[in-house]
Amino acid sequence: MGFFDNLTDEFVNTTKDIGRMAQNGVDITKLQYDKKIKEQELLKLYEKLGRSYYEDHKEDDDESIKEISAVILRIKEISDNINSIKGGKSCPKCGALVKDSAKFCSACGEKINDIFED
Ligand SMILES: [Zn+2]
Repeated sequence: MGFFDNLTDEFVNTTKDIGRMAQNGVDITKLQYDKKIKEQELLKLYEKLGRSYYEDHKEDDDESIKEISAVILRIKEISDNINSIKGGKSCPKCGALVKDSAKFCSACGEKINDIFED
């Protein structure tokens, strides 16, 4: 093979490589998207399992369980504070904002006890 034949072969191979890279670029973007979707699905499954485990073990003497309970309590405190600022209180069952005069929660139907009944 002569010098020009080698150059031609190199040009053809380089052109093929660029074409293959462009094709792979599209495939990789699609694969990265599919991977992200599956990673999100995995997180939801872990969350579902973790929530289920927590519900079954929330009385256990376990640091992770206690951490979750503390965060849940803090979220409830913040939610109560928000509802108080909005001029009402939190439904004891679902946490929705209910008026102080309400007898039932409009979100879940829970009976709201008067302050005097507590
Ligand atoms: Zn409610």
